[in-house]
Amino acid sequence: MKIPMACADLSNEDIAAVVDVLHSGQLSLGPKAIEFEQQIADYVGVKHAVAVSSGTSALHLLVRALGLGPGDEVLVPSFTFASSVNVLLYEGATPVFVDIIPDTYTLDPVDLERKVTPRTKAIMAVDVFGHPAEWDEILGIADRHALRVIDDSCEALGAEYKGRKLGQFGDAAAFAFYPNKQMTTGEGGIIVTDDDEIAVLCRSMRNQGRDEMGAWLEHVRLGYNYRMDEMSAALGVSQFKRLETFLQKRERVAQMYTERLQGLEGVHPPLVKPYVRMSWFVYVVTLAEGLARDPVMALMAEQGVPTRGYFAPIHTQRHIYERFGDLSGMLPMTESVAQRTIALPFSAIMTETQVTYVCEVLKACLAKVILG
Ligand SMILES: *Cc1c(COP(=O)(O)O)cnc(C)c1O
Repeated sequence: MKIPMACADLSNEDIAAVVDVLHSGQLSLGPKAIEFEQQIADYVGVKHAVAVSSGTSALHLLVRALGLGPGDEVLVPSFTFASSVNVLLYEGATPVFVDIIPDTYTLDPVDLERKVTPRTKAIMAVDVFGHPAEWDEILGIADRHALRVIDDSCEALGAEYKGRKLGQFGDAAAFAFYPNKQMTTGEGGIIVTDDDEIAVLCRSMRNQGRDEMGAWLEHVRLGYNYRMDEMSAALGVSQFKRLETFLQKRERVAQMYTERLQGLEGVHPPLVKPYVRMSWFVYVVTLAEGLARDPVMALMAEQGVPTRGYFAPIHTQRHIYERFGDLSGMLPMTESVAQRTIALPFSAIMTETQVTYVCEVLKACLAKVILG
């Protein structure tokens, strides 16, 4: 049995939507991106959505829109994808790494507040693996210290915190649509916010710094080409119609995994807080302390089951420690968890047979490693 790590759920209707754009001749700056933005803004429950070329470009524009730059410290987890930190480095802001809580791997509010200094300007919170961060605590800290807040929700479209959709928290949020995300546009991302000024700035900067009403060759500020093309937007519009179905299917696959792994020695299935709706991005198990992850992953690969070691902490990446020095030991929970987490194959279209097979292989490989 060959099982992919992730797989987008594409229908004939999705394909036809993209082909229609190609027939229309309008491949960029057209009606599809506008329609997609309206869908996402309505879904999340915010005033503005700005579609862009990737989740990373969405986050980069937010860093620029908030004016973060040299001398500014931004609190960010190390247990995240590279983008959350790279976008700070693009602008010369200083990432200050914050540890995570052991149950959901999101920002630890206690460590967060401990790391606030007079130079701290903002928090980049991450809804890791589709589980919402501890938003009440994070926004409380932001209030007390007058910090701006970006929500890197690139893994969590559709998730809810205490009955409210993610995307409503902080100054603005970013979602992403790479093919392994809950829904895809190929490459793509979107900014959501209730803040009029952030929306105007992001619209301008994604389009080479043009003002909405200005002439084509008039550039009022530094910008980029971060536009979402019409083929991607049409795929987004079409995929969005099935987003709820995707989320439910992913939830069901996650449940199938948890049923099979519950009680298995040496493995902890993911935890979900009772006051959230998880939007399953990946299914990540944690091995018991002292168990080596890499041999388990290697043995599973031999059986045709791909896995990923989500995440390799950012502070242990070469370009980061070469620049900021050796931070090892400063983030004990991040380092402990990161050596023991394994993302299993996961998608909306995984079958029960596939899930069962992955769990059997995991059990067998674990047994081998435990017995030496
Ligand atoms: C996917 C992801 C992004 C954005 O990724 P792109 O590939 O640029 O769309 C950003 N942050 C996190 C945490 C992600 O998982």
